[in-house]
Amino acid sequence: MPRLKKCPDCGGKMEKGETEFLAEFEQGLIAIENIDADICTICGAEYLPAESDKYIEETVEDIFKNKITAHQETVYRVPVHA
Ligand SMILES: [Zn+2]
Repeated sequence: MPRLKKCPDCGGKMEKGETEFLAEFEQGLIAIENIDADICTICGAEYLPAESDKYIEETVEDIFKNKITAHQETVYRVPVHA
């Protein structure tokens, strides 16, 4: 998704902000902080630019390959307890 100036939901002004990614995979729960996003100043809708989607995708891949040293401060992996 390209950077947005106007909210697709309500037409409000979008501002650059940060969001978190949280998802559950078979291998565990993954949390990534400080993700670049466009956030609506009116309704709070969050949209991720293409770079952020790519960053999440690559980071998740790195986590599963145990190569997370580079962004350890903002990336967490919570193992699933059976
Ligand atoms: Zn909005």
